[in-house]
Amino acid sequence: MTAPRIEIHLDRIQHNATILVDRLRGLGISVTGVTKATSGSPEVAAVLVAAGVTSIGESRIENVERLRRSGLSSHVTLIRSPMLSQVGRVVANADVSMNTEPTVIDALSGAAVAQERRHGVILMVELGDLREGILPADLAAVARRTVTLPGLELVGIGTNLACLSGVVPDSANMSRLSSLADALTLDLGRELAVVSGGNSANLDWAHGSAGVGRIDDLRLGESILLGREPLRRDPIDGLRLDAFTLVGEVIEAKAKDRRPTGTVAQAAFGSAPDSGPNAGPDAAGGTGPGTGTRVIVALGHQDVDPDGLTAPSGMTILGAGSDHLVLDSGTHTPPAGSELRFQVDYRALLRAMTSPFVDQVLVGPASGPTLASGTPRRRRPGRYHRMPAAMGLRLEG
Ligand SMILES: *Cc1c(COP(=O)(O)O)cnc(C)c1O
Repeated sequence: MTAPRIEIHLDRIQHNATILVDRLRGLGISVTGVTKATSGSPEVAAVLVAAGVTSIGESRIENVERLRRSGLSSHVTLIRSPMLSQVGRVVANADVSMNTEPTVIDALSGAAVAQERRHGVILMVELGDLREGILPADLAAVARRTVTLPGLELVGIGTNLACLSGVVPDSANMSRLSSLADALTLDLGRELAVVSGGNSANLDWAHGSAGVGRIDDLRLGESILLGREPLRRDPIDGLRLDAFTLVGEVIEAKAKDRRPTGTVAQAAFGSAPDSGPNAGPDAAGGTGPGTGTRVIVALGHQDVDPDGLTAPSGMTILGAGSDHLVLDSGTHTPPAGSELRFQVDYRALLRAMTSPFVDQVLVGPASGPTLASGTPRRRRPGRYHRMPAAMGLRLEG
């Protein structure tokens, strides 16, 4: 099997999604399952749907189109504001989009009329994180205008916190969203189907004791895929943290000085790497004072964000360039040709899933055939394998 590759444990993703869907259902909250960190993986979307998410959330129209080409017929929400230049593709492929700009909403209406479709609009409200959102004072006017436009349906409102500025979803900003929803319902004389309170950073708030008000939907990506809440990156009770593993191959293993020789300036990616935990002439361990076993794995910035990797236990990542990941391998010396396995955080996952150099290997789902039963199938030449049989989804290529 080729390296680098990312192993995607569909059964673990489904497990995480099922638990979160069930927990939130008890609070009257549905889940929009966000696949953007997987570049709109149809197989990941399928297990999210099987777990009970009510919509698939994607940030890029290309990924939505990939999902549609794979045969996904589920409800899809475009969670990034559509580009004005892409409204036709948005109406053709997404059921709902999240919006903040009246000119874009007008264009969506035009595209919906032209395509004889109805397109749902969720208006995003700015509640302190200072990324996307209509100012609360302008919300009613934009909503009143949206409901008059042909081809569109005002599905609801939403907000997004904790993304740009790290603003924590709490009872104050969530009550504000509920009040805005109540006021809009009165103003328009109609119910809002969706009040989308936020992302994985909202889970602590949702499970707090204060009640969830009018919020009836959360858009969850990281918590489902990596099993952690994003405010402190704490593990979420009962969830798998190991749905994704990045595997790289060792291309060099040698005892070398722990400290570089010569005058030191900037390295290829900024400051030179730390010389490791035992750096220095008196360091013990390794093969002798001042030396340590360094291994090079054929992985770099072109494959993954090296800062988002967790090394195998007993090893330390010293640094990375575009193509080389250098580790202090401690007391263990994995030879050239052996493989090392790394856990990924959200940044590392995103980069690995978008790199053309990283093969994707699907494992699971729980209910499907096991790993040994299928021949690997390639999706794109050289980068996509599937271990078990397809789950009723048509694979491209
Ligand atoms: C990425 C994103 C999400 C999902 O965020 P997670 O922290 O991965 O749960 C939800 N909503 C919007 C608007 C996003 O951009």
